[in-house]
Amino acid sequence: MLGAGIMGSALAINLARRGLEVTLFDREAAPMAATSRWNEGKIHLGYLYGADPTTATAEHILPGSLRFGDLARELVGDLDGHITADDDLYLLHRDSVVGADTMRAKFEAISGLIRRHPDAGRYLVDVSDPLVTELTPAELSEVAGAGIVAGFRVPERSVDTRWFADRLAGAVAAESGVTLRLGTTVAAAEPVDSADGRWRVRTGDDDEHFDLIVNALWNGRLPVDTTAGLTPQGPWNHRYRLCVFIRTRSEHDVPSAIVAVGPFGDVKNYNGRDFYLSWYPVGLVAEGAELELNAPALPTGPDAEAFVGDVRAALERVIPGVSRVFDDADDTIVHGGFVFAQSRGGALDDPRSGLHRRDRYGVERRGAYYSVDTGKYSTAPWSASRLAAEIAG
Ligand SMILES: Cc1cc2nc3c(=O)[nH]c(=O)nc-3n(C[C@H](O)[C@H](O)[C@H](O)COP(=O)(O)OP(=O)(O)OC[C@H]3O[C@@H](n4cnc5c(N)ncnc54)[C@H](O)[C@@H]3O)c2cc1C
Repeated sequence: MLGAGIMGSALAINLARRGLEVTLFDREAAPMAATSRWNEGKIHLGYLYGADPTTATAEHILPGSLRFGDLARELVGDLDGHITADDDLYLLHRDSVVGADTMRAKFEAISGLIRRHPDAGRYLVDVSDPLVTELTPAELSEVAGAGIVAGFRVPERSVDTRWFADRLAGAVAAESGVTLRLGTTVAAAEPVDSADGRWRVRTGDDDEHFDLIVNALWNGRLPVDTTAGLTPQGPWNHRYRLCVFIRTRSEHDVPSAIVAVGPFGDVKNYNGRDFYLSWYPVGLVAEGAELELNAPALPTGPDAEAFVGDVRAALERVIPGVSRVFDDADDTIVHGGFVFAQSRGGALDDPRSGLHRRDRYGVERRGAYYSVDTGKYSTAPWSASRLAAEIAG
């Protein structure tokens, strides 16, 4: 198993529980140390992809997101207290790539899809009759600042990713059928004789042989696929996004809110004291269409402070309440992660950008070698559980 993010760790646990011996490789010193730790953790129902001209993204994401809670509990136990308590607010910006009418219609279509889905009652809250309500002008003026023209309350929830990362890292380390090979960079995966036979993993000067390999390396996936004889099918786009993670001294009721649809930002309030804050144009620090994007150096000292100041200034304009979070920060971390999308990319303020949809991810296979594009955190436990059934079943 290559890659100990949410996909690799969940899959390793699933396979071990089905009786397989799993060796889990990662270049980091601990599982769940990369993108799966440093993201927002929204368990998407599809509403964010309001600029997808179809409902393909929602349809692709829903089955996995609706089962996130069940499957995550099987992996790490109870999630109580680590899921956002309230609905997310979608604040429509006047420069959004879709207008309010399109957004209303798209939200209605997505709610219809959810309502008809047999697993709608199994989401983190019951969404068998999902209710999207538009904020009244008075409600909107309470939360929204400059440039916000409408607001919607959407029944999506998010998981506190750092808490979940600690729990999943603990679970995979405790799983008796899983051997961790940390601090180990994977250079290649090659068939020993034929693609249907045994495979070798090359790490530096070493090789080890396995009955099968799953590549869940996310940003590092394509170079290893190439060595395995799977030619990546373009176009694709890698981005590296920096965000701010704040723990406050006291509790704040700042709502979880996202400014949509386009290159804006959001605030996520996990439990009153732990917050995720991002402003896309400031946080997008690297982008490319090569096989692998190098991780940019994380800002430290005055650079980190300047970054936090920029995110704050941009967010405060549209969601003035976030100033309370910055003012009361006890612990502030600037970190980030990779986004891989099977798309040509393009700017988020372009309504035709392929980044407005995310319906082309999944598993490719060559003999006993599997390559998994996780796509979204939301669907990873579900994809892992299905792939484990396919492999072990
Ligand atoms: C800022 C941000 C916000 C996001 N918000 C959301 C959200 O709200 N909801 C959502 O569903 N998704 C979100 N995402 C996407 C989500 O985080 C990813 O889809 C998901 O975490 C990917 O999981 P993974 O296990 O595939 O990757 P990772 O967690 O990155 O795991 C891959 C592992 O492979 C290791 N690795 C890579 N190359 C090598 C190599 N050559 N050798 C050894 N090890 C290697 C890495 O160290 C890493 O541990 C967000 C992403 C970002 C960056």
